[in-house]
Amino acid sequence: MTTLLVRNTSMLVTMDEGRREIAQGGLFVRDGFIEQVGPTESLPDEADKILDLRGHIVLPGMVNTHHHFYQTLTRAVTAAQNANLFNWLKTLYPIWARMTPEDIAISTQTALAELVLSGCTTASDHLYLFPNGSRLDDEILAALEVGVRLHASRGSMSLGESQGGLPPDSVVDTEDVILADSVRLIERYHNPNPGAMTQIVLAPCSPFSVTTELMRQSAKIARQYGVHLHTHLAETQDEEAFCRQMFGHRPVAYMESVDWVGPDVWFAHSVHINQEEIAVFAHTGCGVAHCPSSNMRLASGIAPLWEYLRAGVKVGLGVDGSASNDGSHLLAEARQAMLLARLRAGLMGASLSSEDAPPLLTARQSLELATRGGAAVLGRTDIGSLEVGKCADFTAINLNRLGYAGALHDPVAAVMFCAPQAVDWSVIGGRVIVENGELLTVDVPHLVERHNRAAARLLQAE
Ligand SMILES: [Zn+2]
Repeated sequence: MTTLLVRNTSMLVTMDEGRREIAQGGLFVRDGFIEQVGPTESLPDEADKILDLRGHIVLPGMVNTHHHFYQTLTRAVTAAQNANLFNWLKTLYPIWARMTPEDIAISTQTALAELVLSGCTTASDHLYLFPNGSRLDDEILAALEVGVRLHASRGSMSLGESQGGLPPDSVVDTEDVILADSVRLIERYHNPNPGAMTQIVLAPCSPFSVTTELMRQSAKIARQYGVHLHTHLAETQDEEAFCRQMFGHRPVAYMESVDWVGPDVWFAHSVHINQEEIAVFAHTGCGVAHCPSSNMRLASGIAPLWEYLRAGVKVGLGVDGSASNDGSHLLAEARQAMLLARLRAGLMGASLSSEDAPPLLTARQSLELATRGGAAVLGRTDIGSLEVGKCADFTAINLNRLGYAGALHDPVAAVMFCAPQAVDWSVIGGRVIVENGELLTVDVPHLVERHNRAAARLLQAE
């Protein structure tokens, strides 16, 4: 048994039921789980390891609910810089088709290094291309080395151009191959227990790249094994037009028709959603991965975040793939969510009476989306807040820095309103991953060198 004591923090933000923020707060951890939370004087004096975090704010580890790690290899590609979703995808599919298993591993570590330094301790990833012998295993094993909790989504594409889909036939697979691999991955890696480092999710890519039969069969397997389902939904108006034409439904009705609604389903984006569809999400328990930077970058639209929260829909945040953001900074995404929600409130307020206009999303509400919200979306009850019995997943940021100067009267607001910073400490399951700003599990300069070499090779053939 090993114990860890955190003490003397400037502020410990619990995100518990009462949303307690404890001045001079601390934690006592045993074997990766929190045993005590409270003011430092209420905690034991001794532990195997002691972190004295005076001058730091401690936050629950943030949860990223949507990403494509491999896209860190194709950030800011010239031909895709100024494209909307469908053209952006058509430009990038052939480049992605050149990836190797090593590229998957490298890009996984790059994305996770960036995420963990931005405050993320649990990440969901959606890998839906497996070229040149690549497997989801390449990502899972690379992630274990970094030490971040991973919800690895077995993505898939089965509807190629020749069948009326968007992706070229060269990057799609048959339903049989996809389903057999899904079962193999669940049986090999999925851990349903508290404290799990790896969970598997089934995630056919999007309505315009997947056959109806694959959607149905994936749902069946997911329910048989008790794993979650994830896909892109209602991201753009092009997708809505595609669904109406191809399936005779709007995107949400199409999901209902293939048994893709329920508390075990979450959708990325969900920008173009009407009031009845929000009610479907609330009533059935579907979650939403809100990705404001990606939606802005690709000019997709603004998701109805306020309506989701008002209706009681579970919402988490996603940085989305690093080719449509182009960063994996989760704290920056939480700030972006707050700012975009405010812009939308202002735009709506101009045409509504003041009682009907949405209130401005607060710093604490946005932090809640990134922590408790993300945990709920992924179906985790063991993360998302700092409470007795939960995983010891937390980060700490030194408040005495240039970027926060003048904002120390409210450290939570400082973190959310001021320019996004990197964390100084990250602890995941009681294990120190970042110490004084240094990522202990990855040689970052070496990783960047390998990553840049891989990215240059992918683009070279263009
Ligand atoms: Zn995405």
